[in-house]
Order: sequence, then C-alpha cells, then structure tokens
Amino acid sequence: MALNIFKFFLKEPPAPEVHVLFYNTLGRAKEHFVPLKAGRVSMYHCGPTVYGYTHIGHARAYVFADLIKRLFLYQGLTVNQIINITDVGHLTDDEDQGQDKIEEGARRENKTAKEIVELYTNDFMENLSKLNVDTDGTIFPKASEHILEQIAFIKTLEEKGYTYPTSDGIYFDTSRFPDYGKLGNIDLKGLEEGKRVAINAEKKHPTDFALWKFSKPEEKRQQEWESPWGKGFPGWHIECSAMSTKYLGHRFDIHTGGVDHIPVHHNNEIAQSNCALGVKSVNYWMHSEHLRIDGKKISKSLGNVILLKHVEERNISPLAYRYWLLTSHYRTPINFTWEALEAAHRGFYRLQKAFVEDLGVKKGSINATYRKTFSDALADDIDTPKAIATLWNLLKDTGVSKPDKKATLLDFDKVLGLGLSTAQEFLEGNKKEIANSDIPPEVENLLTERERARLAKDFKKADELRDKIKAAGFEISDTPDGAKLQKV
Ligand code: AMP
Ligand code: ZN
Repeated sequence: MALNIFKFFLKEPPAPEVHVLFYNTLGRAKEHFVPLKAGRVSMYHCGPTVYGYTHIGHARAYVFADLIKRLFLYQGLTVNQIINITDVGHLTDDEDQGQDKIEEGARRENKTAKEIVELYTNDFMENLSKLNVDTDGTIFPKASEHILEQIAFIKTLEEKGYTYPTSDGIYFDTSRFPDYGKLGNIDLKGLEEGKRVAINAEKKHPTDFALWKFSKPEEKRQQEWESPWGKGFPGWHIECSAMSTKYLGHRFDIHTGGVDHIPVHHNNEIAQSNCALGVKSVNYWMHSEHLRIDGKKISKSLGNVILLKHVEERNISPLAYRYWLLTSHYRTPINFTWEALEAAHRGFYRLQKAFVEDLGVKKGSINATYRKTFSDALADDIDTPKAIATLWNLLKDTGVSKPDKKATLLDFDKVLGLGLSTAQEFLEGNKKEIANSDIPPEVENLLTERERARLAKDFKKADELRDKIKAAGFEISDTPDGAKLQKV
C-alpha cells in the first residue's frame, strides 16, 4: 500500500497536449503538429554564415525560430533547439563553386579565418540578445568543430553507395534518392535540361552536390583537414545533417530556414540525412520569407544593408524592430522602410507606456477569453498579426479590469518577447519625447498605405491618402529620412 502511494506520487505528469497547425513546406499544406516524443520538441535552425555582420533580414529568420520555441514553452513543452554556426564550406555561389565565404572574408579584411568567425559570431549573438531571442538551453554548434562527425557521415553515405569522386571532391549522387527535390517541388526535369548550369562537367547530374571538397594544390587554405579522400574541407550541406544527428538524433521534429534554403540546401540535407540514416529524418520543414529594403534585395553591392545598430542610431529600440516583424506573418515577404519602422516604433512605445502608466500596479489574473484568442492565433501557423491585434483589442476593452489586462499582457509577452516586464526601464531610458507618439493607429495605417502606393508609383492613390490624413488632422512632410507626420 505504502509502496503504491509512493509510486503514485512518483508518476510523471501527463505530457501537455499540443494544438498547433504549421505550414509544412514538405506537404505544401497546414498540418497538425505531432511531436515525435510527447511533451518534447526538437528543432534545428540553419544558422548564419559568419563572414559579415548580421543584418535586419537575418534577424527575421531568428525571431521566427524564437517564436516557435516560445510558443512551445508557452504550451508547456520542453524544447531542444539547435542553431548552427556556418564557419566553413559555404561557397559564394551555393553550387559548390566559387570561394569559401569565410576565407574570402579573411582576405578582404586582412584577418585570420578564426578572427572573422569570432567577430561575426559574437555580432550574431549580440543581435539575438538585443532582439530578446531566448537562447536559454539553445546549442550553437560550429561546423569547423564537427569535422570528424561530418567525415563519418560522408563515410556512411559512401559505404551505402551514394557518393562518387570527381577531381575536385566527393559528390552525392542525387539520382540514387528517388525523393530528391520533393521539398518545394523542384523542377528536376528543367534542371536536367540545363537550367541549373552545371559548371562542373564531372558532375553526373546538375543537382549532385559536394560532400567533401579537396584543397586546391595551388591554394593554401586557412581551414583544411585530412580525410579518407584527401586534404580538404566539408561541403556546406553536410554540416547540418551531421550536427542535427549528433544533437537531436536520427529523427527530429522541426527544421527551419529562410525560403532561399528550399531549392538547394534543404533538398540536399534531406537527401543526405534520409539516405545515411535510413529514416525520414525531419517531419516538419518550415521556411520564413525574406525581407526586402525599399523593394530591393539586401546586398552590399546595392549599399542597402541595414543593421540593428543603424536602427538604434535612430533611437529606435531593437525590440520595436521585433514588434514590427511580428506585425507581418512569417510567410509573407515584407518590405522594410524607415517610415514603417517609425510607425511601429510609435506603436511599440504606446504599448510600453500604456503598460506602465495606465494599468496600475495591482495584481490581476489572466483573462481566459483573450488568452484563448491569442493562443489560437499563434497555434494557427504562428499568426502574429492576429496575436498583436488581440493585444490591442484587450488594451481597448473597457470590460476587462486594469490589473487583469496587465496580467494578460505579461502572459502574452512570454511568446511575443516584447520586453514588457522591463517596460519601466525602457520608458526611463527613452524619456526624450518620442516624436508624434500620440498619432492614432488609423492615421499610421493610412501613412503605411500611402507609402505602399508611392512605392507602387500609384500617385493618385497616394494623394488621396494624403488628403485623408489631412482630414484626420495631420500633415505629411516628406524628408530624406522618410515621411513624417505632424499635427496640423
Ligand atoms: P546566411 O547567413 O546567408 O546563411 O543566412 C542566414 C539565415 O538568414 C538564412 O535562414 C537566410 O534565409 C536568412 N536570411 C538572409 N537574408 C535574409 C533576408 N533578407 N530576409 C529574411 N531572411 C534572410
Ligand atoms: Zn542548414
């Protein structure tokens, strides 16, 4: 009897249920998420190639990864999360040709590869911290520190007959994997006919890719290792298969990356992992869309690379940038403009101000109805725009007491990560009047719409919107820093 009671108390509590729908790139549909192990989620996110500063586009990919993690923690699950650091093997053209980005960065900046990696990894980590990305328990493995694991992985593929040598490396034979290209429905026939130009004539198929590259005899690399096939370095894709297997096992739940990873990198990862491990290694593939700046791709050559530090230089908090990201769904391509960010900043400021100044200090309880609307929105493929709208509806709702609003907002912030628990310090640090912080959201929306119309060169619509804004009591002045609003 006593023993039974003891056993009863020792019994593990049942795993929390998960109610989440995710858009799975593999099935091209929203699917119910079922973890491999009840109560536990394992996730791998393709990390940055650390040869340059983290820009606000990268930030989108990792705020997205953070939202998935926070959502699961909010639902009471345990999360194992890996974000790798690519510090070797990523070549400039993604197609096994060109220069290694790290070696090239080292040459460009007259530094060692090690110094480059350290500089930009630290910068990446600093960005995550400023964006309030929860790195608690997250592992950040580096490719260069897992060479043996990658060699062992390639060895397994070789033993199973999936590889062949060429004069410049060991390649994966994609024709041996019938499911190749399923992710994103790649047009293999089109590629065979020459769309993905095979620069390397020794490749048997245009989609074949390097697992191991040989160091060129005429070139001294800073990063190279001995291997069963000769001195060289791993291809870009193998690190993700080797490290996800090491840290998460043969099978894990979720793999994410930006949409640019779908056609090549992730199809290659699937081929390597499924063939070497003999299982379907990943159940859910999720991809975040890109951020463009003034309608253009972010690139050094266009001179439009914006970093978080540029955001801070305009007295805009990185968390306001996070807030702006959350106002769009992760699968929607977004266009960054300073006007849009400034509008979001004002909204963010209003939120912090309302939280500190309007809601009092009394302890309240979480409003169950709002909590349900909020968590249902996030559980529907992470619908952050709807979650943010719910937050504002709650603030406006006179039927909910101030203490309960406060408690509910703090609860929401476990997922949103907008730093509400430190709102007081934020306001103190931003005592300087934030320009036009009393602009009503409707007017801000009109301004955003006008901005969109102007970008689309629909000047008639833009003028109509200007008139509407004027009727609401605000004047627009177009400055080199973007459109500003002033009370008439
Ligand atoms: P990379 O350092 O280029 O390997 O990129 C790291 C991650 O950032 C990948 O998941 C990319 O898809 C993502 N990424 C890079 N540029 C952008 C962008 N402009 N917008 C959104 N995500 C991006
Ligand atoms: Zn990867």
